[in-house]
Amino acid sequence: MLTITPAIRAHIENHAVETYPHECCGVIVGRVSGDAREGVEAHRTGNLNTERAHDRFELDPKDFVRLDREAREQGLDIIGIYHSHPDHPARPSETDLASAWAGYSYVIVAVNQGAPGDFHSFELIEHDFLQEEVRCPS
Ligand SMILES: [Zn+2]
Repeated sequence: MLTITPAIRAHIENHAVETYPHECCGVIVGRVSGDAREGVEAHRTGNLNTERAHDRFELDPKDFVRLDREAREQGLDIIGIYHSHPDHPARPSETDLASAWAGYSYVIVAVNQGAPGDFHSFELIEHDFLQEEVRCPS
């Protein structure tokens, strides 16, 4: 289960709308207890995939390392990775699956004709994605 704040959801949706029709990506920083992840804040990262930016993302590893270090300095961890699916359902692709790591929440937000759509999260369980509950208490 992933719990996020309304500010995190707004951050992700705004980023996704701004980069439309290209994919955006970023990380969610927070805490983990058992299989519950709690987001504290979200950060944008660069998308290295400029060739197929409409349907692929490749999170900039330099950003990941920097944000991971900054999270640890605050006693937090990177708990999730988000990206957008422009004009495509909020379901992981084969490429998403191939590049996923266990232990993270994978948030996907659909952007339909420039407007935010479905907002889902998935976790990698035994080499496959399972949708997990997203709580966003206001
Ligand atoms: Zn994807």
